[in-house]
Amino acid sequence: MSTDFFYSVRMRASAGTKHLSGAEHLVSCNDVVKTVYKLAERAMTKGTSPDKIIITVESLQSFKKIRHIHALDVLAFGGMDITACRAAATQALLSANISKTALDAAFGFLDHGAAPSGGNMRGAIIMDAETGARLEPDPERGVRVSRVDWSENIISELEQKLASLGLIHFRTREALALATKVAHAQNILAELCWSDDHDYVAGYVSSRRMGYLRLPVMKHEGIPLGGRVFFINGKASDISSLIHFLEKEPVIITDLGIFHKINRLSDLNIDHV
Ligand code: AMP
Repeated sequence: MSTDFFYSVRMRASAGTKHLSGAEHLVSCNDVVKTVYKLAERAMTKGTSPDKIIITVESLQSFKKIRHIHALDVLAFGGMDITACRAAATQALLSANISKTALDAAFGFLDHGAAPSGGNMRGAIIMDAETGARLEPDPERGVRVSRVDWSENIISELEQKLASLGLIHFRTREALALATKVAHAQNILAELCWSDDHDYVAGYVSSRRMGYLRLPVMKHEGIPLGGRVFFINGKASDISSLIHFLEKEPVIITDLGIFHKINRLSDLNIDHV
């Protein structure tokens, strides 16, 4: 798709130093005004009144093409507690060639606050899948994935399919878009994520091969810590092009994968993960 008339429209709302909400859409020039309005409305209807809303509109003309990709398949676990969810995440990540050392490091960072100053990062950790070493240049901020959006044509089908699995929170749709872009990056073997929101305990592991494995309980309620880890098998020298893809290159998701409910770890055909 030509990007001649495409723009990124991004919103970030805050109160003092507290981040309240954020979102981004990639739209044609005809839809920029409508999207600015929609995002301002979203910032104002979150419950807490923001004292600052920043909306940024950027032309994507410098990119010759917008890449079109397929969404990851969604496999949603149901009826599992934190122990079972973490066991499933561990097994899936081990089978995606993430070492036990790297997994222990990743869980430790997300459990205890991944930013060197304590607390959450704004972005993600990039981790060597073998050694567990952190490779993101700024460990306080991490790497922020952006410039990914759903094609308008598949939004209603996406919402219907997610709802059929009981996934009606807007976070799932956004997390699936982010995980889909991440899974299409070169060198990224898999991702681990759970929210830093104290009352949102779900998380996921994902990769291009295994899809998006949605896990309902990855932490205890009330814990305000979480994060994202992207496991890579590349060299540190490849990091800047990886970060450029994740943060800057526009990607639109044009096709949906399959949607499944899973009740036990054994339902997951781990050989295919
Ligand atoms: P959330 O799912 O929004 O609660 O985010 C959970 C964690 O993921 C945050 O604490 C950040 O560390 C990380 N994160 C949030 N948004 C992004 C993003 N756009 N790119 C990379 N990491 C992110």
